[in-house]
Amino acid sequence: MHELSLCESVMRILYQEAEKHRFHRVKTVRLQLGALSCVAPEAIDFCFKAVSKGTLADGARLELLREPGAAWCASCGETVSIKERYDPCPTCGSYELHVSRGDELRVKDLEVE
Ligand SMILES: [Zn+2]
Repeated sequence: MHELSLCESVMRILYQEAEKHRFHRVKTVRLQLGALSCVAPEAIDFCFKAVSKGTLADGARLELLREPGAAWCASCGETVSIKERYDPCPTCGSYELHVSRGDELRVKDLEVE
């Protein structure tokens, strides 16, 4: 499952950060979720609870921040913002869009103690 492997990589980041900054508990995890990432927020929430059980992030609150997608249009040369991966260019209607932002999930920041 896609969401599960994403949550596992989030956990890896948490452990790396904990080692670097010497904290023992994560209270809140803020994730930046690109609008084009094809990730279901409820699934992320569910998987995160499962993988964080018994870890330093057990019971941590998950905040998802939606980030709009951006793409570059090969037809009109504009950088446009899009909501869905296969949307046409809002300026010229072309489908020759190269997604430049919004298809990722990353850890924005953490609240720790
Ligand atoms: Zn265009």
